[in-house]
Amino acid sequence: MSEHHKKILGILGGGQLGRMTALAAARLGIECVIFCDDKNAPAFQVAKTSIIADYTNKQALDQFAAQVDYITYEFENIPIDTVRYLQKHKPVHPDDRLLEIAQHRVREKQFLNDIGIPTTRWAAVQNAKDIEKALRDWEAKRAIVKTCRFGYDGKGQAVIEPDNDPAGILRGFKAKDFILEDIVEFSFEISVIVARDKLGQSVTYPSVLNQHSNHILSKTIAPAPISEELDRKARDMAELLAGSVDLIGVLALEFFVTPMGEILANEIAPRPHNSGHWTMDACTVCQFEQHARAVCAYPVGDPARHSDAVMINLIGKDAEKIGYFLETPGIALHLYGKEDCRDGRKMGHINITGPKDQGVDLDEQSKALAHYIPHIKS
Ligand code: AMP
Repeated sequence: MSEHHKKILGILGGGQLGRMTALAAARLGIECVIFCDDKNAPAFQVAKTSIIADYTNKQALDQFAAQVDYITYEFENIPIDTVRYLQKHKPVHPDDRLLEIAQHRVREKQFLNDIGIPTTRWAAVQNAKDIEKALRDWEAKRAIVKTCRFGYDGKGQAVIEPDNDPAGILRGFKAKDFILEDIVEFSFEISVIVARDKLGQSVTYPSVLNQHSNHILSKTIAPAPISEELDRKARDMAELLAGSVDLIGVLALEFFVTPMGEILANEIAPRPHNSGHWTMDACTVCQFEQHARAVCAYPVGDPARHSDAVMINLIGKDAEKIGYFLETPGIALHLYGKEDCRDGRKMGHINITGPKDQGVDLDEQSKALAHYIPHIKS
């Protein structure tokens, strides 16, 4: 393929992450074909071609693979067999190894521990007896139980307390495999985005601090106000993970930071991540461009941060106040073009940027927006 061949990238999934990847790809002259089972997918609005079909429809997958040079996905619940099927036709990145790990919480924790990345204590459980045994072994009274698959934004998880009924809780989830985790009394949560290309070159963005509201990411503060040492540790772990799975593309690794300054990995996202949206307005090359570059066999780019940033998600009705965000200096508005404005739905985000490392407290400034965005802590 010549340097000037126009590349065509196929994206499985049509949500905001696919949309923002397609927009970044377009800046590099890469055209995108979006494959999604939802006819109203927001990524369709910015793509060259759309295919609306079920992810298991082989005929549609063949048609998709025939139209593109490279394939990626924008959410981790794509059936693994779909990725394996497509891999026979075109390069799919990140490949099925990482996807298989990220789709299953027990495999994820086991893999992280195997490569030396610490997590909270955990046990694979299937029933109330397994939970009772683990609690006895740990001499613990409380723990968190999570479904191994399909959990997001706090869905598919519950706290086990001495006076509740584990069997009833498990029944409510309609799943077979669970993970039980020690409850981490963390001070705060951070995450790191790493991008790695086919030559094995990798770059990381600074660790960022994430605040949640009702289990949904509310705000990201970039960089996280933590020591250089802690930042380095988290970034080294993300790079170790990326190298261990021979990543091509972008992944995010989320951590808890304990009061003792220990970091415990919690979750892998095998794709661009909500906690990396700040890079769109504060870095030379943003996470979406890194992803498009790497999966289309270009080298990763310069991740240099030129500004401090605070990213705030616009959830549900927050997005109705765009007039204010459009008029306020220092705010970059990103809307996802979603038609239905439902409670709890991510409709867009804003990035508040300010001069790099000048001691301007953007987080403090951002609290003034609590009037417009009630979920941020004022
Ligand atoms: P997850 O789906 O694993 O990312 O969990 C969603 C949120 O639940 C996390 O961001 C934490 O705030 C909380 N959480 C998850 N696991 C634990 C744990 N083991 N200990 C304490 N809090 C947790």
